[in-house]
This record gives sequence, structure tokens and C-alpha cells, in this order.
Amino acid sequence: MGTLATLCLPGDGHPAATVAVCRLLRDLERRLTVNGPPEALRHSQVEAVNAAAGRAAVALDAEVYGLVRTAVLASRRYRGSFNALIGPVVKAWRIGFADARVPAAAEVAALLELTDPDDVDLDDDSRSVWLRRPGMRLDLGAIAKGHAADRAAALYRAHGVTDGLVDLGGNVVALGRAGDGRPWRVGVQSPSAARGVTLGFLEVSDASAVTSGIYERVLEAGGRRYHHMIDPLTGHPFESDLASVTVLSPSSLQADIWATVAQRGGLVAGSAAVTAAPGIEAVFVTGERTVLATAGCREALTVTDLGYRLLDVAAD
Ligand code: AMP
Ligand code: MG
Repeated sequence: MGTLATLCLPGDGHPAATVAVCRLLRDLERRLTVNGPPEALRHSQVEAVNAAAGRAAVALDAEVYGLVRTAVLASRRYRGSFNALIGPVVKAWRIGFADARVPAAAEVAALLELTDPDDVDLDDDSRSVWLRRPGMRLDLGAIAKGHAADRAAALYRAHGVTDGLVDLGGNVVALGRAGDGRPWRVGVQSPSAARGVTLGFLEVSDASAVTSGIYERVLEAGGRRYHHMIDPLTGHPFESDLASVTVLSPSSLQADIWATVAQRGGLVAGSAAVTAAPGIEAVFVTGERTVLATAGCREALTVTDLGYRLLDVAAD
């Protein structure tokens, strides 16, 4: 999934469960990836859907169908921010890869025509997906890690593991408690500093924390920086006053969807949307070094870097 997975288990490391979780993660990557050489894509069910775009419906296994269905419904709902049909545009930019480039305006405009989530047919009975127009592409890159983190945590629980941390490159699920008996502390990356340097931490227990940051993967070209989250309305990277958003939710998949929605919304609209959404909380970090936490996670947040100013949000 283009990231480093860290599994942290207090005690003996639960080797049998951890081997099973590693196998699960590799298997999910195989079935969901849309990146890599042909041999890596051979087992990808998402790529099979993409390859058949405009031609045929493709039947998927129950898990992948469920994930695609969730992604398409979320794309219809959050149309201007989260859109898993953004694939053709993502492929044109290739941000995060060596051959990333700024595509021409006409190219972007043409590709945007192929990103309408209403142009997808979902059939629950046959669990099949049909992208109606040739050139359409599903891209689950924004949520695959969230789903995988949920599955990994569930598999640990099924093995009787009550305490542990699953971290799939910023998609964290905290099970139970850390080795010291306290909630897990999930660092909030300082957007302007080197990776691993945090501005504070969130205390999390039996919940997921997912961070989306514009510093994650970038292309520098023509004196500008372009990050990897694409605005579904313009086909260009989001314009946002936020450097990062960390979303808390019982579901890592939901947190992952919301990380994109909130990042696109920016500080004002993003925090209002998160506050209105049941079971979703978030910490917003702006480019101006201010931090804002929604009411439900204010207590869980500690800001340690004195260079950041913690804003108060009116309680709802
Ligand atoms: P994340 O790393 O979770 O922030 O997801 C970023 C990835 O999601 C990108 O690399 C693309 O594959 C995909 N993506 C980019 N823009 C969007 C968007 N607006 N909605 C859904 N997925 C997107
Ligand atoms: Mg994401």
C-alpha cells in the first residue's frame, strides 16, 4: 500500500496473530491495488473493474464489493471532496511517483468527465460493479489503509488480543491499552518538521486515528508544491488552509473517508461538518500553526510544541 505498516503488541508480540495479520495485509493489498507493474495488478479486483470500464460488469468477492460499494456511496454523498472515481485524474498527475507531472488543463478537463460516481452500476445480488464509461477508474487509495486497519484490528481481536496498535502509515487503530496500562498515545505529526517530529499527541483507546496531510506526498514543479489529494471539482490538488487533519472514529474506514472530506472542507467548513457527524471527531492543524480540536476529542489532545496555538471551538 505504499507505506510502512507497524504492528505494536505489548508482551510477547502475539506471533501467531501477527503472522496472520501480515498475511491479511498482503492479501488485501493484492486484491485492492491499482499501482504497480502488470504482475502486481493481476490479482487486483479493483483493477479488473477498471480494465472492464465501458465494457462489462465485474463480479467481486464479498469484502471487496462491500468496500467498493461504501466508496461509491460516499463519493455520491461527499461529491465535491471525497470521490473514489477520481482515478483517471490521479493517474494523470502520478503524485508520489518518480514520473509525476502537472497535466495540461485540457487533459484534466477531459478526465474530469470520467469521474462521476453516478456513472457506476452496483449490483448487490451479483456483487458486481460496472463503470459505464471507457476510461473510468476506481481508486481506493484514500481508504484502502483504513479498511485494512479495521480488518487487522478485528483479526487481532479474533485471536484474543485485547491490547495493541496497528499503524498503517498514519492509519492507526488502537486496541485497548499500551504496555503501561494507559491509553495509547498517537503522535500528531508536525506538518512543517521532519517525519516523526510531533506537535502533540492524542490518547486513544479502542478507536482509530487517521491523519491526512498535504505534506505526505508532493510534486515540486515550476516553483510550486502540489500535494496528492485531488479536488474532484477542479482536478487539481485541494486548496485548503489546513496542513493536516487527524480524524478519530470507531471505524478506521470512516475516519479515512472523513480525513479527505475534512481536509477539503478546510478549518471552518471541515470542523462544522465533523461536529455535525455522529461518532466523528477531529484535530485540525492549519498552515498558520494553529490547532483546533472538536469538542469530543479536546480532552484527548495534548499539544507539546509551544510553537502551536490551540484554538478553542464552541462546544456543540
Ligand atoms: P490518503 O493517503 O489516505 O490521504 O489518500 C490519498 C490517495 O487517495 C491519493 O493518492 C489518491 O490515490 C486518492 N485520492 C486523491 N484525491 C482523492 C479524492 N478527492 N477522493 C478520494 N480519493 C482521492
Ligand atoms: Mg486516507
